[in-house]
Formats: sequence, C-alpha cells, structure tokens
Amino acid sequence: MNTIAFIGLGNMGNPMAANLVKAGHTVRGFDLVEANLNTAESNGITVAKSAAEAVTGSEVVITMLPAGAHVLSVYADLVPAAAPGTLFIDSSTIDVMSARKAHTVANEAGMLSIDAPVSGGVGGAAAGTLTFMVGGSSEAFSKAQPVLQPMAGKIVHCGNASAGQAAKICNNMLLGISMIGVGEAFVLAEKLGLSHQALYDVASTSSGQCWSLTSYCPVPGPVPASPANRDYAPGFAAALMLKDLRLAQEAAQAAGAATPMGAAAAQLYTLYEASGGGGEDFSGIIRFLRGDDHQ
Ligand code: NAD
Repeated sequence: MNTIAFIGLGNMGNPMAANLVKAGHTVRGFDLVEANLNTAESNGITVAKSAAEAVTGSEVVITMLPAGAHVLSVYADLVPAAAPGTLFIDSSTIDVMSARKAHTVANEAGMLSIDAPVSGGVGGAAAGTLTFMVGGSSEAFSKAQPVLQPMAGKIVHCGNASAGQAAKICNNMLLGISMIGVGEAFVLAEKLGLSHQALYDVASTSSGQCWSLTSYCPVPGPVPASPANRDYAPGFAAALMLKDLRLAQEAAQAAGAATPMGAAAAQLYTLYEASGGGGEDFSGIIRFLRGDDHQ
C-alpha cells in the first residue's frame, strides 16, 4: 500500500481518491475549495494544508485539475517538494503540449511520470470503472498500474509521454462528430415523416450503427437509459465535449493534421453552448440542430 497525494478533489477527483482509500492506500488530499475538502474528509482522505504538504513523504502524486495551465503551475510547486523517484500521475484532460511539458518537468527532476486521462465520467469515478489512457515509459506504467487499479475498469498503455492525452482527444473528437451525425439523421427523418423507432430499428442493425446511436441515442424512446429520456440531464455535459473538441483542434493545428469534421463539430458545439446548452448532456445537440429552444 502507498501514501498518495491527490491534488484536485472536484467532481472526479473526490470519488477517485475515495476508491484509493477503500483499497487501503493512505491518501493525503488538497483542493482550493473548502467544500471539496469537507467531502474528502468524509471519504477518509487526510486533508493537507497545501499541495506541497500533501506531497511531502508521498510515493505517488495524482493530479485531477481543470486544464493544462493548472497542471503546469501545480507541477512547478510540487516537483521540488517530492523525493526523487516519486511517481507523478496526471489524470486531468489537458492539451498535448502541456502534457509533454509536465513530463519534462517531472523527468528532469528524477521523477517517474504518466499522463493518464480517463473516460467514464462521474459515474465511472464513483464506481471505480474508469478507462485510463496512459502515456509514459514502461517503467512508469508498471509502477502506476496497481495504483490505478482501484479506480479503473480498464487501463490501456497507449505509448510514450502524452499518448494518453492523444488517445483521449482523438476518441472524443470522433464521439462529437458521430453524435452530430446521428442527431442530423433523426432531424432529417422527422422532416421526412419517419418515426424515431423506425430509423433506430434500421440504423442500429445497418451500416449507420455506432455508439452514439445504440448506447446514447439522442432521442427519447429507443434506448431507455440515454440522457434524452431525462430531458438531457448530463451525463457528459456539452461544455466538456466542447473543451475536448477544442483540445483536438489545437493538437490538429500543431501537428498539421486535416480534421475538417472535427473543426465543424467544435464550431457547432460552440454555437450550442452560446445558445445556452453548455450544461445539457452533449447529446442535446440534436435540439440545437432541430432549432428547438432548450433554455
Ligand atoms: P472540477 O472542476 O469538478 O474539479 C477540478 C478541481 O481542481 C476543483 O475542485 C478545483 O478547485 C481544483 N483545483 C484547481 N486548481 C487547483 C490547485 N492549484 N490546487 C488544488 N486544486 C485545484 O472538474 P472535474 O469534473 O473533476 O474534472 C477534472 C478533470 O477531469 C478535467 O480535466 C476534466 O476535463 C476531466 N474529466 C472530467 C469528466 C467529467 O465527467 N466531469 C470526465 C472525464 C474527464
């Protein structure tokens, strides 16, 4: 069992850290928000007065923060406070360039590091069934695996530094594009007088089949568990999808990859958010495509 510093105890970090406590690890947590520290305490996490205090004497440091700038600023404070050989795990979803910088900062100071963004949302964080997409050396990955296990349903070693972030944004760009495609198909079907169920019955067993249709159908009825059946309560909020689509566009521009559909998806989710849909589940984009008032 390890002593683990957990920095960033928000919607995802708190339940993830709670699963580490349940598995028998000693977890020292820090967050800037008092209410999150109170929740952490009730989850058995030892609350530290600062991030540096949480890190001193810990063998593993996990960060679960909003964006790249937060991660780099926390690493600048924490890496000097850690003992050489400490394993740094960043599970935030951040831009690929910041992920590479974070590895460099950690590795140059003699630390092991992985980027390990997740999919599975708050439900997966609470259930300990997240998918971890990992970038980093084989040595860092081997050391991280038993630490990630209590929080994970699946752990995939995607490659070297930043490969986890690359996998995350490629997957989510594909998801954003496919959800818009499924939404457009239903909107066209409505105009042509075709029922939702009829389109579903055909497309779900034909070449139009995809996860956005069969697991997360954006109209109520065909897939009872999808957010469309509860007025598009998230789920995975449209604002978070937009964040990931923007990260994908940044990476595509930096790498010189042509992603016209990804660019169009980012633009449509930008308009959807501007019209008030950012807090809805991302499958609610169908309302925007249809021209519904969703406020
Ligand atoms: P959140 O805003 O609830 O939590 C982030 C926490 O970081 C906040 O509590 C904030 O106070 C804390 N924080 C910020 N700066 C800090 C600092 N310097 N020191 C200590 N704490 C600091 O966000 P979340 O939903 O938990 O998401 C965290 C990350 O996980 C994001 O990168 C997000 O994109 C990613 N993610 C979220 C989901 C989801 O469904 N919520 C799913 C997959 C991935």
